[in-house]
Amino acid sequence: MKNRVLLVSGGSRGIGAATARLAAEAGWSVCISYHRQEAQARAVVEEIESIGGRALALKADVGREADVLDLFEQLDQAFGTLSGLVNNAGILEPQMRVEGMQAARLARVFNVNVLGSFLCAREAVRRMSTRHGGQGGAIVNLSSMAARLGSPNEYVDYAAAKGAIDSFTIGLSKEVAAEGIRVNAVRPGLIHTDIHASGGEPGRIERLKGSVPMGRGGRAEEVARAILWLLSDEASYTTGSFIDVSGGR
Ligand code: NAP
Repeated sequence: MKNRVLLVSGGSRGIGAATARLAAEAGWSVCISYHRQEAQARAVVEEIESIGGRALALKADVGREADVLDLFEQLDQAFGTLSGLVNNAGILEPQMRVEGMQAARLARVFNVNVLGSFLCAREAVRRMSTRHGGQGGAIVNLSSMAARLGSPNEYVDYAAAKGAIDSFTIGLSKEVAAEGIRVNAVRPGLIHTDIHASGGEPGRIERLKGSVPMGRGGRAEEVARAILWLLSDEASYTTGSFIDVSGGR
């Protein structure tokens, strides 16, 4: 992967940060985007630079088109030709039943998780597709086991947004398969990151780990390994595919 350029959206924390670290170790030049946690994003960049890697942190709300356009332009100028995108930025809102969900909440959840992934993929395709003079590349979308399980009483909105990511992955993979771009997704299960606290229950994995056949939550690095494989040339004939990283859940 020497000198290939990767963008990881939401790379300041959790699964995105773990992906950025592993990608840098594999030789990618890594741009991470973040929303608010600048200090955490800078820390990831410093960590990568300390092992001799090349990294850059850029602020962008993926749900805002102007921010996404700006993000990709800055990335073009700093690192040049893009070869990989990990559509990782995602959010949860506090747990509740569907009947209590306000339109503003639904708009936020679909905006970041779905619109954000579409906008970033669109910009990546414009740069990577051989149809536009690009050299090809790989996109990995972060879905969730929630897309299959539905997350009743917690966040059906989030689960439905991830269901949209599954359809998006299938459709886009077919659209750009003959243009040098592979599009795949991972579906993490219960992974130890800050996201569960965002939903109002930091101890959620402890409560639910009995429902995981392997009996434990996963680590961000365990998801990152699957993402790295899908980005790599080892996955050269794999597109429109999903890897469940969920301990069998
Ligand atoms: P996390 O620890 O909460 O980190 C979220 C990341 O997304 C942060 O880097 C955050 O940036 C960024 N972000 C949030 N809103 C954004 C926005 N509007 N624009 C740009 N970036 C934004 O989450 P995680 O658990 O690592 O989750 C990563 C992905 O995996 C998400 O798509 C999530 O849905 C999916 N996933 C996670 C789990 C799990 O159990 N953890 C399970 C299934 C799927 P700041 O740091 O600046 O806020």
